[in-house]
Amino acid sequence: MPTELPPGMAAHSEEGSPETSNRQVLLLVGLFIGFIVGLFWLVLALAGNLILLLPTSVEQQLGKAIVPVYAQRAKPSPAQETLNKLLNGLEQYLDGKAGSRDYQVLYIPEATVNALAIPGDRVILFKGLIAQAKSENELVMVLGHELGHFVNRDHLRGLGRGLAVQIMLSVLIGDGSALQNIAVSGAANLSQSRFSQGQELKADEVGLTLLNEYYGHVAGAIDFFERLKQIPGQNLDFLTTHPAPKRRIEKLRRLIEARGYAQVEKTPLPSTLVNLE
Ligand SMILES: [Zn+2]
Repeated sequence: MPTELPPGMAAHSEEGSPETSNRQVLLLVGLFIGFIVGLFWLVLALAGNLILLLPTSVEQQLGKAIVPVYAQRAKPSPAQETLNKLLNGLEQYLDGKAGSRDYQVLYIPEATVNALAIPGDRVILFKGLIAQAKSENELVMVLGHELGHFVNRDHLRGLGRGLAVQIMLSVLIGDGSALQNIAVSGAANLSQSRFSQGQELKADEVGLTLLNEYYGHVAGAIDFFERLKQIPGQNLDFLTTHPAPKRRIEKLRRLIEARGYAQVEKTPLPSTLVNLE
């Protein structure tokens, strides 16, 4: 006895025709590819920010691999000791997570005019940069600026997006040796890394705040940037990795005025930082 199919089922059998199912498969494949491309794009776009969630323990692991790359070029010296004393003096004014770390300076006796903050809580200062300073205050500002990069975790962003993705993958997979390799190749990138102008301005703001807390005034805050700006060529590394001194100077001037910071007498450079070898 023939039975009539309920309307719902009839519709269902129509959907099952070869043409429709091909279209469905194509649609699914398209959606899948779109999803993968979208996911890939999203991971890359967010990598710079996701790296900020990196646990401190992994950051320390990265540091263990990266620090020796710079430490072998550094020179334990009276200059390095003095710089460390200045840095310790500033550290006490840091609060929050960034304040519970033990930051140290690695003094590298090379002509490069640069300073950088690297994973492993080290501030790298090159002789070329110190040779440009005319007062202790200027150096304290530079040190404060580098601490600002730690506060904002820029030192992790400095590894670059590609490495950030690799680091997070190896953390997820739990592959420690991969992490080691990534860190070593990342160490070279660090000295070339450019931060955005926004990141630099934020680090300057932290530097200025620390400078004021350290001396009770902010004399010398912009001296260093002013001097580097006037040096012909302007191909100094500190300016390459730290762009647009003019805008930074303006922003610092505005901040100093808005906060009513005093500018008293500058402190001369410590003798250990004059005529460096
Ligand atoms: Zn910077």
